Formats: sequence, C-alpha cells, structure tokens
Amino acid sequence: MHVPLNDLERGYAEQADELRAVCQEVLESGWYVHGPHHDRFEEQLADFVGTAGAVGVGNGTDALTLAVLAVTDGRRGEVLTAANAGGYTTAAAARVGYDLRYADVDVDTLNLTPTTVESALTPQTVAVVVTHLYGRMAPVHEIKELCAARGVPVVEDCAQSAGAYRRGAAAGSVGDAGAFSFYPTKNLGALGDGGAVTASDPAILERLKELRQYGWGEKYVMGTPDGANSRLDELQAAVLGVRLPRLSSWNARRRDIIGCYRSASEGGSRLRVLPAPDERHVGHLAVALSDDRDAVRSDLAAAGIATAVHYPVPDHQQPINAAQVALPVTEMATASVLSLPCFPQMTDDEVQYVCAALASL
Ligand SMILES: *Cc1c(COP(=O)(O)O)cnc(C)c1O
Repeated sequence: MHVPLNDLERGYAEQADELRAVCQEVLESGWYVHGPHHDRFEEQLADFVGTAGAVGVGNGTDALTLAVLAVTDGRRGEVLTAANAGGYTTAAAARVGYDLRYADVDVDTLNLTPTTVESALTPQTVAVVVTHLYGRMAPVHEIKELCAARGVPVVEDCAQSAGAYRRGAAAGSVGDAGAFSFYPTKNLGALGDGGAVTASDPAILERLKELRQYGWGEKYVMGTPDGANSRLDELQAAVLGVRLPRLSSWNARRRDIIGCYRSASEGGSRLRVLPAPDERHVGHLAVALSDDRDAVRSDLAAAGIATAVHYPVPDHQQPINAAQVALPVTEMATASVLSLPCFPQMTDDEVQYVCAALASL
C-alpha cells in the first residue's frame, strides 16, 4: 500500500458536484472579484469564528502582513513570534519593515506560552503573533491578557487551526486579529490561493479593507499607507463557501486519525505522537517527535508511508536571518519532528495500515 501525506483530489471528489455548480455560477455571472460570493463568505467566516467581521485577502502571508499593519496602525518595531512555525510571520513582517524577535515554545505543545512570551517581550515589541501550530490552539487568552496589560496587540496565526476552540472561543476571535490561509492543503482549503483576517474592532476592520486594496479609503483615494493589492478571488470565495460547512466534521475526522496513531504507537520508544484530544486541536498535521527521526522516516518510507518535516529550519537559523538567540525547545523540535499522513478522506484501511507500521517500529 502507498499512503500519501495528503490527497487533494479526494477532497475535491467529496464535493465535486457542488463545487462544479458554484464555479459555473461564478463563471457565468461575469463578476470575478469582490462579488456576492466573496461578501457572503466574509460574513459566513465571521459568523463561524465569532468576530464582528472578516476581510478576504489574497493568501495567508498577506493576511499576516495586513493584520500586523492593521493592529499596529503601521507603527514599526519588533514583532515577537515563534521560530518553529514555518517562517511565515518572519516573511510577512520583515517585508514591510518590522524587526523580528523570537520566543521559545513549550516542550509538550510546541506552541508559545505566556511564560515564553513574557520573557522575550521588549520595549520595542509592537505586536505578538501567536501561531496555533499543527492545529493546536495556543494559550492565546493568557497571552492576550499579558500583552494587553502592556498595550501590545496580538495577532493569531490561524492558518493551521481553522475551527479550533478553546474556552468556547474560536481560533481567530481571541487576539486583536486572526490571520487565515486557504492554501489548498490547509484544513479549510480553496482550489488555489486565498486568505482572510478576522477582527472585531471596527477601526482594525476598516484599516484591513483599505490595506487590501491600495490603501484606498474611497475609490482612487489613498488614505492609508502600505496599501497592497491582495483580494480574495470570487471563485475561491465561492469554493470556500461550499467547504466551510464541512469543516467541523473534517476536523473531527483528523482528530480521530491522530488518536489512532497515538494508541498504536504507545509503548513504542522510537516515536511519540503529539495528542489531538479535543476541540482545541483540529489535527492539521499529525506530528510525532523522534530522537531517531531520519531512520524512522526511512522505515516508514520503505512501508510506502509518506512523511514530511514541518519545519526543518527554525526562523532564527534561516540563511536570511541568523538571529543571535538560543531557543532550546525550538531547536530540539526542529531536529525531531515528523508529520504522518492525515487528511479527512483517508480510508480506514489506510489509517489501520499506518497504525500497524507505527506499532511495529
Ligand atoms: C500556510 C501558512 C501560512 C501562509 O499561508 P499562505 O496562504 O501560503 O501564504 C502562514 N502561517 C502558517 C502557520 C501556515 O501554515
């Protein structure tokens, strides 16, 4: 058997008729940017997340850039974030002139905590970006409280965590803004690029709407600096509108798969699967830690099971960056993480096959 890490074709097949119908509707409508599907999806997403609004943008990286600009009102300084989360915040903030600073992560969750954030905040910190890594919501309520006391806004990076809840609040509703990616492999994925920012403060929402479209307040009048062209395409918005109602059941299926992997690997010593026990985790990736990662990966590859490493180089050690900071947990995780196959349309046979391989490692 060959088990892929993900299979987007099966995701399409699950709703092929609905997706084709909605795409045809857009094609025949003559309205390809910022049309009715776009506006409806913005409302649908805001309702789902529980914020006053959502602003569609071109992709998740733009969502982060525009969110940081909006919550800081363009005031440059340091953005504090985790260094084990794929480098997206670094790319998003650096390109518009913010400096980056990194806090270490918790050894059990690989997410930021109030303690790691507090010890890394400086007087130059103008925003904290909390990534809900691998689908697990970080303790963002506590981080938000800590930062609010210092007047520092918080952006949630929800690219991997659409549909996660903690203390009854959805990812993207706790910070000052929530950045989403709808890249096809995300839990809520489009058939191309897409992104959105959620927020409840009307001033932040207004800034986001200006920033995504050249900085226009009224048409052709640039009232806001740092404006971009970053719009969520009408076709992608229509696709997302069809997919959002399925998200919670897909997330539950992902959690179940991770639960099976965890049980199967219990008692073994070569790998520890990170838990996804409840609604705080949407199982974006099934991540395991191993001291023996490369050998484990080649044993799984020999059994036809695809794996990947999210992520092999932490931000502070990237060639463009090489910041002088020691982040021991981040560095440990970088050397030990591997991702196992996990997507909602995996068959039970495939899940059992991976479980058997994990049990025999
Ligand atoms: C994918 C991802 C992004 C970037 O999204 P794009 O749509 O690819 O720009 C940002 N943050 C995290 C955590 C991601 O996984």
